[in-house]
Parts: sequence; structure tokens; C-alpha cells
Amino acid sequence: MAGRLQDKVAIVTGAGSSGPGWGNGKATAVLFAREGAKVFCTDVDTDALAETLNLILGDGGEAAAQVADVSLADHVAAMVQSCLERFGRIDILHNNVGIVELGGPVEASEAAWDRVVDVNLKSMFLTCKHVLPRMAAQGSGAIVNISSIAGIRWTGVPYVSYSATKAAVLGFTRSVALEYAQRGIRANTILPGLMNTPMIVEPLKDAYGQGDVQKMVEVRDAQCPMGHMGDAWDVAYAALFLASDEAKYITGAELVVDGGITAKMA
Ligand code: NAP
Repeated sequence: MAGRLQDKVAIVTGAGSSGPGWGNGKATAVLFAREGAKVFCTDVDTDALAETLNLILGDGGEAAAQVADVSLADHVAAMVQSCLERFGRIDILHNNVGIVELGGPVEASEAAWDRVVDVNLKSMFLTCKHVLPRMAAQGSGAIVNISSIAGIRWTGVPYVSYSATKAAVLGFTRSVALEYAQRGIRANTILPGLMNTPMIVEPLKDAYGQGDVQKMVEVRDAQCPMGHMGDAWDVAYAALFLASDEAKYITGAELVVDGGITAKMA
């Protein structure tokens, strides 16, 4: 049986994982490959990238990998070029990379602000700058950008650069979606809620658990209406749907994957 992304070529940014286990980008890259996509994985972390590549190849999937920092224009240009040389086209762009720096405007340094803006937002501008002309020439494409419920809600932790950039991803994606709606290109956003992935451990263990990871997990689980956080596969399956032709009439949408937390009154 053909997969839901059979023979499509997908770029996944941040396809590694910042710690042991499953991050959103890693799960998405593996799931896309299981569904028949040729996955071009990219990440700043060589070992994490190799792990994802080997998982896909070990599964019998098709993939290639290139180390790249998606906040740097020359890295992004080279990554897109390599993908085209290897697979000949780009059907899906999955912008997964995002980082957290704690602090409000007073506590956060200007350098940290600039870094988060570059990594969380400018990266999407750069990938789209290089990928959109290719998709437009093909007359088709699907872009899935990862935001966060922190872009639309106060989550209880001050990380102003994170909240601001994740809100900006919504406006960015809407603008791309409408500009390219008549050229066969769709662009949608996923807003994950509180997810239990490796990326939360370092930045958030102090804010939620006074340095205790287990306590952090308990506090975050208790905040969620279902009594537990989501996981990387919840985000990956949402991305799979939006990237696939099943979502052919969906563009400019914002898909919340949060177990109901943003629907809650308090
Ligand atoms: P992750 O495990 O932290 O990151 C995936 C990979 O991206 C890591 O290997 C990381 O390398 C890499 N990376 C970081 N900066 C990069 C850059 N400039 N260029 C290329 N690669 C880079 O995160 P994830 O689980 O895949 O998911 C991340 C996305 O989900 C983010 O956009 C995040 O905001 C969003 N999200 C997560 C949650 C949650 O609760 N987990 C909630 C809402 C939204 P390093 O380890 O070296 O940094």
C-alpha cells in the first residue's frame, strides 16, 4: 500500500533531537519516511542528525542528511541546493527548529533575544526564500511551520523572545499561505502545547521543577486537561496530515495540538 507521502521529497529542519528519546523533528522525519517520503534531514548537531538518518535507513526508508544552521543564509542556501541535487524537487518544507531562552525583557540579554529571533523566525524566512521559488516552479508544495501555544497564551513562564517569535510564525505563515494560494502551495502552522520532549529539559527544569526533571514533568502533566503532556508523535502526526494531499484544501490554518489546554478557562 502506498504511504501517505509516497515519493514526495521533504525537508525537515531540526531532524535530530536535543537529548535522548523523541523530539518533534526526529519523530516527524521518521514518520514522513515511513509514509513514503524521501526525507532531507538537517540539523546543527552532527550526532543527533546521524541518529535520525540511521533510524530512517534502518527502517528501509530513503533519506539524506546535511549539517546546517538554519539561522544562517549560506547554510540554508547550501542545504536547499543539496536537497535538489540529491532528490530533484521539494514537495514539503517542515520548519521544526525552535529554541527557548528564559527571561522577560529585563532579564534576557540582547544577544539572547537576537539569537532566538534568528533561530525561530529568520530561519523560516530563509528556508522559504530558497524553497518557495522551487515549489512555485513545480506548481505545488506544502509548508508546515512549528509555532507554540506560547505564541497565543501566557504559559506561566517568562520567555518573551520565545513567545514573540512563536506569535510571529503565525503571521509569517498566514502571509505566505495567502501570497501563494493560487500557485499550488499551502502553508500551515502547528501550535504544540505542553509536550514531553527532550527540548524542555534544560531550559525548563528550573522554572517548573527547581532543577528536578521528574518534578517538572509532574507539574506540566498536572497543567494539562488530559492529565499528561503530549509527545513528539502527536506533533508528527499533525504535520503528516498537513503535509499530505489529504489537507489539499487547508492553507493558512493554525492547528493546535495541546490536549485541550488552550480551550481551558483557567
Ligand atoms: P529539539 O529536540 O530541541 O531540536 C531538534 C534539533 O534542532 C536539535 O538537534 C537541535 O540541536 C536542532 N537545532 C537547534 N537550533 C538549530 C539551528 N539553528 N539549525 C538547525 N538545527 C538546530 O526540538 P524538537 O522536539 O524537535 O521540537 C522543536 C520544535 O517544537 C520547536 O520549534 C519548539 O518551539 C516546538 N515546540 C515544542 C514544545 C514542547 O513542549 N516540547 C511545545 C511547543 C512547541 P541542539 O540540540 O544542538 O540545539
